Amino acid sequence: MKAKVKLNLVKAICTSCKTEYSFLTSADKIHIDICSNCHPFYTGKQTLVDTDNRLQKFNDKMSKNTSISSVRLSKKERLIARKKEFSDKKQAKDGKLTLKDMLASIK
Ligand SMILES: [Zn+2]
Repeated sequence: MKAKVKLNLVKAICTSCKTEYSFLTSADKIHIDICSNCHPFYTGKQTLVDTDNRLQKFNDKMSKNTSISSVRLSKKERLIARKKEFSDKKQAKDGKLTLKDMLASIK
């Protein structure tokens, strides 16, 4: 055990409610995400703490997903689009048209 432990007065600020705290500790730095002033357990209010913009990122992600699902094609339409895409790739690769591709382009 150390004979003398050097204690420093370290100030830390809660990132959620910006309340400042002082600690007598041997640590150099203290990081507080949520404290008793702003934690829902102590306040009784249900709030979403968004320290890293995760809530905004989630909402952005969900809005993208809903826009994709609204344009979602039926199974048959997806199959046709996939076949067309495949034939286009094949044409670009070979530079020649097959009879099947020509028939597909007529339809
Ligand atoms: Zn706080």
